[in-house]
Amino acid sequence: MDFNDACRTLPLHLPDWFDRIAADYARMDAAYDAAAAHVGFTCSGCEDNCCRTRFRHHTLIEYAYLRQGFEGLGAGHRRRVGADARRYLKALQEAESQGNPFRHWCPLNHDGRCILYPYRPMICRLHGLPHILHHPVRGMIQGTGCHVFEQAYRRIAPRLLDRSGIYQRLAGLERAVRQATGFSAPLGMTVAEMILAMEGGIAGVREVAAGRGGTLGGRRRGPTG
Ligand code: SF4
Repeated sequence: MDFNDACRTLPLHLPDWFDRIAADYARMDAAYDAAAAHVGFTCSGCEDNCCRTRFRHHTLIEYAYLRQGFEGLGAGHRRRVGADARRYLKALQEAESQGNPFRHWCPLNHDGRCILYPYRPMICRLHGLPHILHHPVRGMIQGTGCHVFEQAYRRIAPRLLDRSGIYQRLAGLERAVRQATGFSAPLGMTVAEMILAMEGGIAGVREVAAGRGGTLGGRRRGPTG
């Protein structure tokens, strides 16, 4: 079973999947907005747009939700996104093979705006603010904000965004989704790889990913990709 088979059967096995992830995302957005408002932090006008940061995403539920948005795009938009996704992966492959830093626009960002903003994955919603996480094994983990936050807002005592409940809810939903669909492969994909998987199935992504050692089923990275 590949990602798309799992997504197709998801509504049969878990009819409220869409509402559940939408509700989780709404909670994340509310938590983020409250913490950002506390220090007056805003992303508006940011020149170091985090849509040029390479994130990897790890859940099937986020893939399914993004796929729902992608399928709602017109054919022209989907073609452009697909072409941009291929360019993105080529650039990533070159950067990684040469050990260079990677800054490249996510294929879903057109003219500085995310064209699937309501469907964007978790880390796109949480990036930027300093945060804490109560890890069941490692204890309390604290993370910094993006470098713009650290430069401009460091002196203001921020209300740290607590990601613990957010991660737990998403992990719980992911467990339900995987149990329902029987999909068990580990994931760790950039949005570009997700787009190519949506277009051509898992084989298409393997082909692209193989050029740089592959990401599918590879080492699981931290939640920020
Ligand atoms: S999915 Fe949207 S918000 Fe996330 S990096 Fe891509 S363009 Fe930016």
